[in-house]
Amino acid sequence: MKVLVVEDNKSASMIVCRIISSMGHETVHAESGEEAIQFFSESHYDLILMDVEMPGMNGFDTTRLIRKKSPDLWVPIIFLSANTADTYLTIGIDAGGDDYLSKPVKPAVLKAKIQAMSRIAHMQEQLAESNKNLARANEELQLLSCMDGLTSVVNRRGFDRQFDVEWRRTLREMTPLSVLMIDVDEFKGFNDHYGHLAGDDCLRVVAQALKGQLLRPGDMVARYGGEEFVILLPNTDINGAINVAQNIQKDLHSANIGYPHSSVSDRVTICMGIYCTNQLDANFDRTDKSVLLARADKALYKAKESGRNQFVVFESDGFENKSDEDKVEAKGVVLPFK
Ligand code: GH3
Ligand code: MG
Ligand code: MG
Ligand code: MG
Repeated sequence: MKVLVVEDNKSASMIVCRIISSMGHETVHAESGEEAIQFFSESHYDLILMDVEMPGMNGFDTTRLIRKKSPDLWVPIIFLSANTADTYLTIGIDAGGDDYLSKPVKPAVLKAKIQAMSRIAHMQEQLAESNKNLARANEELQLLSCMDGLTSVVNRRGFDRQFDVEWRRTLREMTPLSVLMIDVDEFKGFNDHYGHLAGDDCLRVVAQALKGQLLRPGDMVARYGGEEFVILLPNTDINGAINVAQNIQKDLHSANIGYPHSSVSDRVTICMGIYCTNQLDANFDRTDKSVLLARADKALYKAKESGRNQFVVFESDGFENKSDEDKVEAKGVVLPFK
């Protein structure tokens, strides 16, 4: 233990320090209440022995200040005083002390008290260690609860959280935010032909192809559900989003997950619907971020309708008087991978 001995009388402090040192504990001597406060704020102590009568700040006031400064850290404080009146004991305990010994202190009594306090200090150390481990485990659990077990990308819950953060940043900083909704083409058929396990493997490869294109720290890909994924690209305009979509298509083409039964290609393909907030029209309700997903989703279904293996951009520029249904007509980008 590290013990702070607060005592204005040098010979009294020497006697006490010698007793404590003989028990194998480290001692630090403060000559006044003010010095004790300073030492306490600079280092950790397991026990404080506090003289009551001192010039300047007395032991009770020093204790009150220590308790006020660190309400969450309980360091045992034992008063040592020549005054044996019961009222002193009451004031001492009220001030935040844990015990009260009369001076001159008997070595055997002091040793017994220190032994008891050392036990408490040890228990506190163990408690602090367990609390630290618990906090670490909680953090890991939080992370795990936001991960998709199959594909190792963020799950829907993690996405919802991150989406909220990015949306608020987008509104605050007036930067563009791009959303890509992604769906594997004819995936039911893939499962039917090659089995569910092959389907799982396919989803893992698709997730990696998506993840591989996210280069900035704020970019994220999440499994939205089933064979659907969503990508968030903060501070990315529509051209940047299209660039990412093209690279994903290329990567997935290279991954070459064979699917000869597909009506679209000889390998697994995906559709993407893209929406960028730069295209927000005047009537856009900024409190409702779900509109972003709904619009990316509309574009995705347009891509499905138009033959799959492609991405479609939801365009609202210049279409303010049209319904959302019509706006996706604007630009469908079909990739040459067949
Ligand atoms: P479309 O081209 O229109 O998207 O057709 P689709 O067959 O991909 O779409 P549909 O919604 O009919 O089927 C999705 C399939 O995805 C059905 C479901 O069994 C499969 N699926 C969803 N989650 C998983 C999964 O975790 N593992 C596997 N292997 N399959 C999954
Ligand atoms: Mg004194
Ligand atoms: Mg689907
Ligand atoms: Mg699908």
